[in-house]
Amino acid sequence: MALARRMALYALNCIETEAVMTKIVKTDAEWQNELTPEDFEILRNRGTEQAGTGEYEQHFPKEGYYVCKGCQLPLYSFTAKYESGCGWPAYNKCYKSQRYNGSHVIFLKDTEHGKTRLEIKCKQCDGHLGHMFVGAKSGNENERHCVNSRSVKYVKEVEPDWVSCLELNQLVGDDLKSELDDVKHGIDDPRNKALAGEACVKTR
Ligand SMILES: [Zn+2]
Repeated sequence: MALARRMALYALNCIETEAVMTKIVKTDAEWQNELTPEDFEILRNRGTEQAGTGEYEQHFPKEGYYVCKGCQLPLYSFTAKYESGCGWPAYNKCYKSQRYNGSHVIFLKDTEHGKTRLEIKCKQCDGHLGHMFVGAKSGNENERHCVNSRSVKYVKEVEPDWVSCLELNQLVGDDLKSELDDVKHGIDDPRNKALAGEACVKTR
């Protein structure tokens, strides 16, 4: 076989085996067709469910994983779930994979509600998941992904073999960390209190 042809076949194989993530983009109307009004409010309008009301807050399974409710991308292992006492499901690491070029979540600086926080979004569909903290209520954990129950769905199956866990905290630069309210201020500071009132979506 000519070298050029072998090279071309090799390149083709590489493309086939290294699946590339495709962003899922839908209109609000399309999302509204697929999600309940409460789930839409949180995933697409960056809402927050009231503390202590979520389906998974006190959910500590011995197997399985949690996927994005918008696009089913696996996000968090059952091994990452821990009791933070914050009122929302908390995870101390997220999934990563070669297929998704690293972490399955992305985070953005969020300065709404008079706080400086890191918003967590699903990497595939940009669905709002919650916020990531590296200080208050992270305890001995490196990080706390404070996630709305309505943003995820539990899957009681063996974890996918193409994912592994990643501590995102290592990727948060010191400059950004020093801006976060949970790092700058004490756990009792009002800026670290849970959002209340209009910022929350009543889910019960
Ligand atoms: Zn998603």
